[in-house]
Amino acid sequence: MKTRAWALIAAVVAGGLVVFGGLTGRVGGAVGAPGDVAKAEAAERLREAVRASDLVSVQRGGVAIIISAPHGGLVRVKGSKEREGGVKVRDVNTAEIALLTAQRITAELGAKPYFVIAQFSRKDADANRSEAEGVENDAARAQWRAYHAAMREFVDECRRVHGRAIVIDIHGQVRRPEAIVRGTRNGQTVKALVEKYGVAALAGPDSVFGRLKAMGYAVLPELNADEDAAEDGAAPGRETFFDGGYIVAHYGSQNADGVDAIQVEIGAQRSNSTLKMARDLGDAIAHFARAYGLAEKKAD
Ligand SMILES: [Zn+2]
Repeated sequence: MKTRAWALIAAVVAGGLVVFGGLTGRVGGAVGAPGDVAKAEAAERLREAVRASDLVSVQRGGVAIIISAPHGGLVRVKGSKEREGGVKVRDVNTAEIALLTAQRITAELGAKPYFVIAQFSRKDADANRSEAEGVENDAARAQWRAYHAAMREFVDECRRVHGRAIVIDIHGQVRRPEAIVRGTRNGQTVKALVEKYGVAALAGPDSVFGRLKAMGYAVLPELNADEDAAEDGAAPGRETFFDGGYIVAHYGSQNADGVDAIQVEIGAQRSNSTLKMARDLGDAIAHFARAYGLAEKKAD
């Protein structure tokens, strides 16, 4: 099983190159309608943002879902030294889970989500910290910047094409190995979603964490722990640890140029079952996307 997951990860690295090849081809090809010009320009921006030498795998999507996985990389950055400060431990299996989750969403919705997956090691660069905090040398800085250039490009594109989006930022944790922990800075990073649909979109039966709970996963914070606080049939609970890092804070909908963003911290016991975890998370995200108007494909 493990071998299969690794073969797929190898495929995504190659797949990134295929994507770029296709997009680059369009830039150089005959360009007609204004839509084609916009697409060619977007492709060019992405090509400039993420070079073939960057250790970041990206996929442009057809639905307004952006999967992010900054801490699952294994590749040491050439010309970089291990960081002296900060957390350097890898979130085990999260690059694999991110890719497989994206595949499951594609199978469910019939259109690809976007993704940005770090292949570089957290020893060199931490993309879930600010640039000032997350890198200590220029070689690592280039990787950090490639990750965030792709994130910004995809967030901007989703805002342009769909008007909104959901970022699912995938991490791993060992403090509660059986649980999956939500981080939204206590609702700040999903401000637009909650304003539009109520807290049910974060904690109700059709939310990502509501679906995971229904599948039998322990989720934190516990949903509806305080029934008196329930509104729209859902109380999101208080996020007391892993409440959301740099990525959800930076791209979340509390920002004028943001979209909704949820950090998902997968317990080690769960991430060990890589294929099952990815299938269930993919199903939960696809269900949420259908329920909250994010599953609509836009013509390519
Ligand atoms: Zn992490």
